[in-house]
Amino acid sequence: MQRLHEDGRSHYPPYVWPEGKRCAVVFSLDLDAESPHAWAHRGEAIAGLSEIEQRRFGPRQGVARILELLARRGVRGSFYVPGVVATTYPDLLPALLAAGHEVGYHGYFHERLDQVSADQARDFLERTIEIFRHQTGLARLGYRSASWEHTPATLAMLEAANVAYDSSLMGFDHPYEIAEVIEIPVTWTVDDALYFRYTNGPRDKTHPANPAAVLESWIEEFEGLREWGGLFMITVHDWISGRAQRLRMLERLLRHVQAAGDAWIGTAGELAAYHRGSVNHGVHRVPAHGITTAF
Ligand SMILES: [Zn+2]
Repeated sequence: MQRLHEDGRSHYPPYVWPEGKRCAVVFSLDLDAESPHAWAHRGEAIAGLSEIEQRRFGPRQGVARILELLARRGVRGSFYVPGVVATTYPDLLPALLAAGHEVGYHGYFHERLDQVSADQARDFLERTIEIFRHQTGLARLGYRSASWEHTPATLAMLEAANVAYDSSLMGFDHPYEIAEVIEIPVTWTVDDALYFRYTNGPRDKTHPANPAAVLESWIEEFEGLREWGGLFMITVHDWISGRAQRLRMLERLLRHVQAAGDAWIGTAGELAAYHRGSVNHGVHRVPAHGITTAF
């Protein structure tokens, strides 16, 4: 009988949040700027300015506006920054920390971990950790992979590098452990890129979505997770959600979440620290392995 490598469990107990909280909310931002475009065209000279300028809007204006919004709502966010972006904009990490936010690693070149060798992946991680250490003095931070991709080997790499946690996968809708790594899960459902990313490129089939419809969809997701006791992980991007109509949408979303009153609004790092010391630790632990298809 062929099996799919799972460990056989099909039931897990509900996640236990701190006293008085039914669910959790994290506002996360992947501060990509130009890096995914540069990675996609690595080794080439990019003369076209259209997408590059659109992306540079992020560090120039988008981030400041999102920081203003978060300050107004009293929300601290988790900002994941590629090493090359931190190097290009050396004021970013210190400014984010000064505003009370969490910073974390997001690859060096925004490299996809299934497209690089194990040696390259480790080299990029070490370079990124060193840049963060140099610019912030902090040495043990969380990690979010580019395009939310991982392999069993790259998870083992994070563990060997003593990274605080990972936030790239979605095997549960609350914190869990995959192999030995604490996972603070994401979800495509609440990722601004799916709805608003538009660069007039070959993958853009339609115009950006109406923020009112997206707001309704995200509130529905939040209310569902509130009912089930999950984590509502919001993921936005500097160059996408720093734009006018999306800022207004995010403000309405945060107002709704805060008005609920029973959601723990914290950073991913705070959730990881809570998870490590809570009754949940070890309860939702899964192995990391792919699937070998054999017919
Ligand atoms: Zn990214």
